[in-house]
Amino acid sequence: MKSFTNVNPENRQEVVSLLKKVIEEGKTASLAGGGSDLLGMIKDDLVAPDVVVNLKDLEGLQKIEPHSQGVRIGGLVTLQELSQHPLILSQYTVLAEAAGTVATPQIRNVGTVAGNICQRPWCWYFRQGFPCFKHGGDRCYSVVGQNQLHAIFGGGPSFIVHPSDTAPALMALEARFRIAGPDGERVVPASEFFVLPREEVSRENILGPDEVLVEIELPPARQNVKSTYVKIMDREAWTHAVLSVAAVLEIDQGVCRKARIVLGAVAPIPWHLPHVERMLVGQRITADLAGDAGRAAVSRAQPLAKNGYKIPLTEALVRRTLISLAG
Ligand SMILES: Cc1cc2nc3c(=O)[nH]c(=O)nc-3n(C[C@H](O)[C@H](O)[C@H](O)COP(=O)(O)OP(=O)(O)OC[C@H]3O[C@@H](n4cnc5c(N)ncnc54)[C@H](O)[C@@H]3O)c2cc1C
Repeated sequence: MKSFTNVNPENRQEVVSLLKKVIEEGKTASLAGGGSDLLGMIKDDLVAPDVVVNLKDLEGLQKIEPHSQGVRIGGLVTLQELSQHPLILSQYTVLAEAAGTVATPQIRNVGTVAGNICQRPWCWYFRQGFPCFKHGGDRCYSVVGQNQLHAIFGGGPSFIVHPSDTAPALMALEARFRIAGPDGERVVPASEFFVLPREEVSRENILGPDEVLVEIELPPARQNVKSTYVKIMDREAWTHAVLSVAAVLEIDQGVCRKARIVLGAVAPIPWHLPHVERMLVGQRITADLAGDAGRAAVSRAQPLAKNGYKIPLTEALVRRTLISLAG
C-alpha cells in the first residue's frame, strides 16, 4: 500500500481548494466520507491517492433539514441515521428502507449517504485488480467471464452494475444533488448524475476530480404517496443487491396518479423504467396490470451468458412490489 497524506478540511470551499491544489501539483486525491469503501480499496492497492481528503469534519453536512422546498440531507449523514429518521421513515419510506438494507450495522454507522452514492463498482474483476476499463484498461472481463452479477440493461463496453442501494431510491424520489466545485455549486437531478459506460467508461457519475457531492435535496412530500425498496441478495444479509426495486406510487381513490420505478443492480446506473410508469398512470393497479408491468420491465433486457436468471427475477419483483404497494 502506498503511503498518503491525510487532510481534514473544515468546510466545502476548503475541500475544493485542496483538490485544485493537489491536481495542480500533478498529484491525486481521494475523498473519504466514512471510508468503508475507499480504505479497503487503498489497502488492496486498487487506488493509490497521494492525499486522502477526510470529509468527516466538514461543517453543516451531518444534518437532515426540512424546509419549504422539501428536505435537505447533508452528504455526511450516515446510513444509520437516514434509515431511522422519523421524517424520512414516514414521508420518504423508500429511502429509509434502502439505507437500512446496506451492509451491516457497523458499516451503516460509518458509511455516509454521499459515499454510498459515489462508491465504486463491486465487480469481482475490478475489485481483484484486473486491468479492465474501470482501471484504465481496454476490456471488460465479464463479457466472456463470470457475469452472473452483471448488467442486463445499459451494458457495454463495461457491464458493471451500479452497487448503491440509496441511489435507486433517490432517483425514484426525484432527488437533486448539490455539487461543490471550483466554479461554485451546481444542482443536478439524480437522473442526470449517473453516466453509462458508453458515455464515460472509467467513472460512474458526472463528478470531476475537483468536485464533491455535498447535499441531497428531496422535493416536498406529496399526499397519497406510498413508497418502498425491495432488495434481493445472494445471501440473507450484509451484502450488495443482486436486484432491487425502488417504487414510489401516488394513489388517489384507488387510481395511480404518478409512478416512479427504478431498478438497482441490473445496469451500470440506477435503471429508470418510464415506459412502465406510463402503463400505470391513470389506472387501478390490479394483479393483471402489475403482471403486465413486470413483463414490460424486462422487455428490453439483454442478458449475458450467465445472468439470464435476472430477467424472471426482475419481472416477478416488479410485479410483487406493485401489488404490495398498491394494496
Ligand atoms: C462488506 C461490505 C458490504 C457492503 N454492502 C453494501 C450494500 O449492501 N449496499 C451498498 O449500497 N453498499 C454496500 N457497501 C459499500 C459501502 O461501504 C457503503 O455503500 C457505504 O455507504 C459507503 O459510504 P462511505 O461514506 O463509507 O464511503 P467512502 O468509502 O468514504 O467513499 C466511497 C467512494 O465515494 C467517494 N466519496 C465519498 N464521499 C464523497 C463525496 N461527498 N463526494 C464525492 N465522492 C465521495 C470516495 O472517494 C470513494 O470513492 C458494502 C461495503 C462492504 C465493505
